[in-house]
Formats: sequence, structure tokens, C-alpha cells
Amino acid sequence: MSDTAVDADVVIVGSGIAGLTTARRAQQLGLQVILLDKGAEAPGSSNARVSQGFMSAAYLPLDTDPEVLKAYGREITSGLGREELIDVWAENCARASAWVTDEGVEVDHIMPGSDQRYLQPFVPGTPGLRFYDRTRGPDRAMTMYADRFVAEGGRYLAQTRATSLLTEDDGVVGVVAWGVQGRFEVRAKAVVLADGGFQANADMVRTHIGPAADRVKLRSLASQTGDGIRMGQAIGAAVVNMEWFYGHMLSLDAIDNDDLWPYPAMDGPLKNGVLVGRDGRRVADEDGSGIGLTRPAMSGIALSNAIAKTADPRAYVAILDSPAWAGSVWKDSPAQYLGTFSANPAIARDGGRVFEAPDLASLAALAGIDAEGLVAEVEAFNAAVHAGTTGELEVPRGGSPRAIETGPFYAIPVVPGLTYTLGGLLVTPDAQVRREDETPIPGLFAVGGTMGGMAGGPLGGYFGGLGEATVFGLLAAERIAADLVGARAG
Ligand SMILES: Cc1cc2nc3c(=O)[nH]c(=O)nc-3n(C[C@H](O)[C@H](O)[C@H](O)COP(=O)(O)OP(=O)(O)OC[C@H]3O[C@@H](n4cnc5c(N)ncnc54)[C@H](O)[C@@H]3O)c2cc1C
Repeated sequence: MSDTAVDADVVIVGSGIAGLTTARRAQQLGLQVILLDKGAEAPGSSNARVSQGFMSAAYLPLDTDPEVLKAYGREITSGLGREELIDVWAENCARASAWVTDEGVEVDHIMPGSDQRYLQPFVPGTPGLRFYDRTRGPDRAMTMYADRFVAEGGRYLAQTRATSLLTEDDGVVGVVAWGVQGRFEVRAKAVVLADGGFQANADMVRTHIGPAADRVKLRSLASQTGDGIRMGQAIGAAVVNMEWFYGHMLSLDAIDNDDLWPYPAMDGPLKNGVLVGRDGRRVADEDGSGIGLTRPAMSGIALSNAIAKTADPRAYVAILDSPAWAGSVWKDSPAQYLGTFSANPAIARDGGRVFEAPDLASLAALAGIDAEGLVAEVEAFNAAVHAGTTGELEVPRGGSPRAIETGPFYAIPVVPGLTYTLGGLLVTPDAQVRREDETPIPGLFAVGGTMGGMAGGPLGGYFGGLGEATVFGLLAAERIAADLVGARAG
């Protein structure tokens, strides 16, 4: 076992979009950077690579008026998001978008008339992670960042896992890492934790999200195990909003069938149906938009969070009538470009269960639901739809629900898909990690899925993982550079 020390200005743990952005920006500002990733090769085993590549500011364009973004950020986080973080994010989204383009990464619309921009090339394809080949925009962009980083003198250490922080006095001065050569230390003036979230750590998921939340479907690679969060906590860093995550509702059969995740999602169909337990009773607002939210785009995230916190997240079934299920085929809209992601027909085509019956009682028998409970629940739901009182149901329903009344009827067992966790190490607006008393820990930064304080909440509270990671990666690098230049000058 070797125990050598390596020195740098900055050591970054994780080479997803947050780590790579920080690394490239720090390098542009003249800093010596070492980037570690436990994955086998550059650019690591990151979710950024396998993501869909939608570059957004909470599903709005990154160049949206910052004042609009600030108001929306407060709304989607139900007051849980720190205003200072939302504000700095809003003020830097357009700049982050321009920086990505300046790096040579192509970001563009995927359909005429849409303001939604994706890392290029956008490759619509079949569901299933096998679709994530290296010709896709997100993978290409991460490879481009990593190649440039190495070409311009950055040190990239693959198969290298950071396990703890080195501290001196009251600050952080490096990390302990394990690579092919064994244990070694990287000493640096700043450490940036950028290792994703804790979605692949079942213990942390149970502790923070819900006692049975590890029964959701992990809708991510398995490399995000909360290492950075735990390293920070071990030296007194504060964590926040740990119970919230970004995800979508999936077919329950995605648990065993890799063709059924990360797409198609059941979020859209559920907006036109109901979600019931084995007793036939509804359990959460299927629209998930929160009654009164101005842009109800977060529905599947909100619903996934609500179901993940129940006693058994695998115990729920989507109930739809014929027009709702037929209407969930995406067509005659810009979404046709994503047509292969439509739950109908993809779930049945790719081996997921879709039960069909002429009436609700027969459907309940097929799907293993209490028939009397289901019939009574749908009757009460339909009456509320016709009376315009769904907001007053025992389990209130937002959006513009339809009655479930035209057979045949459909039942699809579903489960929340956990893509990545939204909570993490509490940071300042320039990504410095804070202690419980909120003072910053000198030399320690967190970005991307490792940072917390901005995102989360029962309405979804999602800011767009790629855009948010880019913003805070830039801010962290710029703060580190400013401190180091100041220190050198002094
Ligand atoms: C299927 C899917 C689709 C998505 N689509 C979108 C989308 O269209 N738009 C969007 O904005 N977001 C999307 N996301 C979310 C987005 O991918 C994440 O928000 C983003 O990747 C977070 O970036 P990150 O750099 O923080 O973490 P990651 O990209 O997860 O990278 C973390 C890196 O840290 C490494 N690591 C972990 N632990 C250690 C350790 N101890 N030592 C060293 N290295 C370590 C990992 O190997 C990994 O390479 C999607 C995610 C998934 C899974």
C-alpha cells in the first residue's frame, strides 16, 4: 500500500457535470486541478452521461428573465429553498448557458417552435439504459469537457475513490483517496465535493426519505452513494432537505425489467387517472402540481416523493379509462419527437403489465385490488369531477382531472423511480459548505447532487440537474480562484 501525497490548488471529487464544470472553469482561471472519479475511465460513471440532456432552469429556458426564475424557484420549493441560493442560481442561468456553448458544447432545440434545449445530438430511442450509447449529446459533452481538461494539463485520476477529508485547524486541506495503487492523499487549497447524491445508498435512502423508500426503483447509475455528504458530515457540515428527490413514476415491472426504465414515465397518464392502493383507495394528488402552482410541470416528481414515503412504495396501481389511456400516446404535438417514451404503447410492448377489463370490478380482480373499494372510490372521484370539487376530496386532487367512466378500463402497477436526491450539504451562494451554525468550512465546497439548500419540497422543487450543476460549478471555481489569487497576492 502506498501512501504518497499529491498537491494541487483544487481537488475535485467526481467527474459528472458538476465536477467537470468546476474543473474546466478553475483551469480557465489558472488553477492546478486534480479530478478524481471512482468510475473506470474519463468522464466517470456519472448520471450526467446517461441523462437525457435537457438543459433547463426548472424546465424553463436557461435565459428566462431572472426575476421570473426567482419567483418560480420560491414557488416550487414551498419556501424550503434558501432564497439566497435561488437568487444566485436565477442570476447565473443565462451566463451558465453561454459558458456551455463557449466550451464548444452544442445545445439546441429538438423541435421547431419549442423553447426546450438539449445537449446535441439529441437521440430519441428505445427505452432502457442500453439506449445510452456514446453518440448521445450528454455523453459527448462530458467527454469533451474531460478531454479538454486533460489536454490543458489537468490531472484526471480514474478508478480513484475519495473516502475522507483531510483537515487542519478549522479547515479542509485535501482528501484521502484509494486508487489502483492503494491509499494516497491529495493535498489542496480547496476540495470540491461533486459526487452526485445518495440515491444508490439504500441505508441513507431509508434514513432520510422514508423507512421503505429503498423499495422504489433506482432510476440512476449505482455510483452515487452519498460519499461526499458523509465526508462533510464527519467534519461537522450541515445537511438539508434530505428527504426530497427528483424522479418519475414508472411501471412497477421496471424493478426487474431494464427495458422499462428510465423511460417511459407514468406521470402523464396519471394526470388523467387515479392512483390507488390494494384497498382501492386513492393516496396522493396524482396531478402532483399543488393546487395553485402556476406552472404545473413537476407532477411526477411530487407524486414520486409522496409514494416513496408510504409503507410500501410498490403497492400502488394506476387506474385509467379508455380515453385517458388512448390519450397518453404522444402524438400531434412537439412531444411526438419523444414518442418512443410514451407509456402507451411502450409499457406493454416492452413486457410491463397493463390489465384491461370492461368494468372496474373485473379490473380490480385482475390487478389484485379490492373491488368494492375501487368502485366506491372512483364513484366518489367522478362525482367530485362533475361537481368541480376535487380539491375538497379527502385526498385533494389538483389540475383538471377527467372522470373515469368510459370502458374498457386499464390498471398499471407503478412504482416511484428515484433519479437523484435533491438534499445535501448546505452551501453558501458560492458553494462553500456550511457547518450546523451556518459558518462556512474553509476550503470545502459542494456542487451538483452533493449540495443542498436550494431544491426540494412537496411540489417537486426541482431546478434541472444539469443547469443547476453548471451554475454552481462555475460559482465554486470562481470563488476558489478569487481566494487563491488574493492569498498569492497577499
Ligand atoms: C436517466 C436520467 C436522465 C436525466 N435527464 C436529465 C435531463 O434531461 N436534464 C437534467 O437537467 N438532468 C437530468 N438528469 C439528472 C442529471 O443527470 C443530474 O442532475 C446530474 O448528473 C448531476 O450531476 P453531478 O455532477 O452532481 O453528479 P453525477 O453526474 O452523478 O456525477 C457524479 C460522479 O461522482 C463519482 N463519484 C461518486 N462517488 C465518488 C467518490 N467517493 N470518489 C470519486 N468519485 C466519486 C461518480 O462515479 C460520478 O462519475 C437525469 C438523470 C438520469 C439518471
